Amino acid sequence: MSRILIVEDEQHIADGLRYNLLAEGHEASIAPDGEAALQLLLTERQPFDAILLDVMLPGKDGFAVASELRAAGQYVPILMLTARANAEDVLRGFEAGADDYLPKPFELSILIARINGLLRRLRWGGRDTASGGSASADISARDVYAFAGRTLDFGAMEVRVRDQSHRLTVMECDLLRYLVKKAGQPVSRRSILQEVWGLHEGVDTRAIDNFIVRLRRYIEDRPASPRFLQTVRGVGYRFVPEP
Ligand code: CA
Repeated sequence: MSRILIVEDEQHIADGLRYNLLAEGHEASIAPDGEAALQLLLTERQPFDAILLDVMLPGKDGFAVASELRAAGQYVPILMLTARANAEDVLRGFEAGADDYLPKPFELSILIARINGLLRRLRWGGRDTASGGSASADISARDVYAFAGRTLDFGAMEVRVRDQSHRLTVMECDLLRYLVKKAGQPVSRRSILQEVWGLHEGVDTRAIDNFIVRLRRYIEDRPASPRFLQTVRGVGYRFVPEP
């Protein structure tokens, strides 16, 4: 059983979500706005395994709530509910630290599947924050890739460089894994959007660049003149483990 926080101001939607999560065997609490969610998570430090975060909230919106949580070092997985299949919103959500998104209106079965997916990945990483399920962790999912004194630990979702370690969101982790899989080859922004994040519509592919900037900060000695995560002019990027 997992504890899930629903952050949604429209009470009938929140109640419906809660009802269905309970039916799936989860525990579920409701926060009617961003402030209430931050109070529960940061001030009271209540343990949750995942957050269902609506973007459209009175006061602080979902983007602001996600950013504040991440800035405070709170890495509980966030499934963001966007108002529509708006690619700019989706990317803004990822940038704010969301792990996955679902456009409204959504099918309940898909929502449940996404939540269960996030929870499963959390357990693989041994970061089952509230339920202590790491004893049943799937060890085979603990993969590690090392290059040039850096360690990309996809299982633990972190990058270690010398004595520094950086926590990755699920999306950052997926992007790094994809670049490593394609090591040495140029990878287009379009293919990153489609294959890593499943975005198929007309998105400004430049939105990818902010993620690359962040990954460079983790793995490069001088992020402004990257050695490992290179820009390929007119195409996109290329990961080169041994430049
Ligand atoms: Ca709302």
